[in-house]
Amino acid sequence: MLITLDCLRADHCGWHGYARRTTPFLDSLASESFVVPQAIVAGAPTYYSIPAILASRMPLALGRDVIGFAPGESTLATVLRESGYATGAFCAGNPYISPRFGCDQGFEVFRDFLDFDAQPTHDTISPETPPGASLRGQLNHAIKHFAGGVGLSRLYNELYFQYCMKIAPPVYSVDALRRFPAADILVDEAQSWLTSIGERPFFLWLHLMDPHSPYYPPMEAFRELTGRDIEPGRARYLNEYWKRSDLTPSGFRGKRDEVIELYDAGIRSVDRQVARLVESLKQTHLWDDCVFVLTADHGEEFLDHGGRFHAPVRLTEEIVRVPLFIRVPGSEGTVVKVPPSPMSHLHLAPTLLEIVDVQAPSAFQGRSLWTNLQRGQAWDDPATVSALSPAIGPAIIECGYDCGNPFRAESRRVPRLLAVRDARFKLVMRMEPGATEEVYDLEADPAEMRPGVSGPALEARKRLLQAAREHLKRTVTGQDAVMVLRARLRDLRCEILG
Ligand SMILES: [Zn+2]
Repeated sequence: MLITLDCLRADHCGWHGYARRTTPFLDSLASESFVVPQAIVAGAPTYYSIPAILASRMPLALGRDVIGFAPGESTLATVLRESGYATGAFCAGNPYISPRFGCDQGFEVFRDFLDFDAQPTHDTISPETPPGASLRGQLNHAIKHFAGGVGLSRLYNELYFQYCMKIAPPVYSVDALRRFPAADILVDEAQSWLTSIGERPFFLWLHLMDPHSPYYPPMEAFRELTGRDIEPGRARYLNEYWKRSDLTPSGFRGKRDEVIELYDAGIRSVDRQVARLVESLKQTHLWDDCVFVLTADHGEEFLDHGGRFHAPVRLTEEIVRVPLFIRVPGSEGTVVKVPPSPMSHLHLAPTLLEIVDVQAPSAFQGRSLWTNLQRGQAWDDPATVSALSPAIGPAIIECGYDCGNPFRAESRRVPRLLAVRDARFKLVMRMEPGATEEVYDLEADPAEMRPGVSGPALEARKRLLQAAREHLKRTVTGQDAVMVLRARLRDLRCEILG
């Protein structure tokens, strides 16, 4: 069973040392699992991350302009289905996890919940709302124009935002504001699917959106986490405020802690629901043989580097470092400490296949780390590797810079943003003329505030640049032309059919 949480950064999980009790149940699972301390996504956000998780493939391997899976591409689901597994996916309404991008391949049952009946109220009240044709709208437009002309834009924006909040219709429940189905709905669906598949082995994938913005957690989870209730109007105010585009980072800082509280409650909500799912698996004894994996497609930023959410404009740790643990039945009492070598998501699918004794397809770009996990042996340390299992290079992360809407082909044709991360250093480069790369020493500067190329970073820069070069070379020479063509054709068909 694979559970991916959208937007869950590693440092907000209890088993990674977060002080707030976001994950009491998952902490207990992690304590009997192989916990990877440095799990790194292969790309961010969702549409750049999922190919590595499901198909052990770098996100831009089919070209910068291709997003999603190629028809016929091997994934965890296709391989396990061919091996006789029942395969089911329940994904909480993320528009990029859908048949449009080939994510349903290999799944006998695939529910993307894109038909979830979300309440659009939160989109209707914002300072960016275009002025309507009404008299009030025209008046507003005139005032805005005038305020801009006399240097009072900030004052206007603030007053207009507060005005919008004041006239917004009353809201009586946080549930009514939620955009994505909460985890309880998906767990219900997963449970009924599990009862329908009889005795067959199964591969269940749940993609949960509870920690994703807008942050509207179920009230029980918020109460459990904080010991009090959240007033629905306040939750809406915070979410509306947090998505404003007229403020600088300092303008958001005063709301940050409250917004994080909502985000954390979304994590707590998932924790409650995973507990419920595992309990039902225990009752039916399916848990006895269940390999359980929990990870995230990427993290989330809360002004760590001045930004919010998770747009592909930077590859800082709060975005690329995600939780990952693997619970393997039979080894609960013997799990060893996993070394802090960065583990790219690229290696997850082959590792899982080896655990369940299924041959990984040769097209997978990653390698199984199952032996390393069992022995607690680093996979990036030349001293412990052998000819049979050579050292794995640093983790590579790539995405299209600022590609905010992969539905549009022109949005995808943007410069590549690339990061190369080893256990201590990270190189980040935007691949366009004139751009320079940055090197961070994550040991001396874990907050990634001081890029520099002196001392040990100088040596690291050379090494990581070399790894970047090799990666780009592999991308070009290793490209599967048939897969590229298939993915393009799928894309074209979707564009034509709308
Ligand atoms: Zn995502």
